[in-house]
Amino acid sequence: MTEAKRILVIEDNENNMYLITFILERNGFEVIGARNATNGINLAIEKDPDLIIMDIQLPDIDGLEATRRIKSTEKGSKMPIVAVTSYAMTGDREKALSAGCDGYIEKPINPETIVSEIEKHLPRPNKGGDI
Ligand code: MN
Repeated sequence: MTEAKRILVIEDNENNMYLITFILERNGFEVIGARNATNGINLAIEKDPDLIIMDIQLPDIDGLEATRRIKSTEKGSKMPIVAVTSYAMTGDREKALSAGCDGYIEKPINPETIVSEIEKHLPRPNKGGDI
């Protein structure tokens, strides 16, 4: 049995946090949650997650700056970060990518889209292997 992939979700909106956590756990991921950027940055370094889901609008530091800070660390530089952008905010996607995010999902959260976007950025050691 392989260990579950661990995902850090940095999101201040309770409904989105609940939904994202529910979808990820249903799909076999282990979820760690942070409600603000400061806590999220600390957990990224401490828990070394396989991937981070980053909301852009957070109560303390915005998700773009939080992404830059995580990516500037040695561990964090290799962590895939998927931004949660709002469909209504034009330019959010471009800003997310230029801040160092590896991909993005749009609100409202779609269960299928979120899982396929995450899988794009996770290594799949069993694929193409000789097992
Ligand atoms: Mn938010």
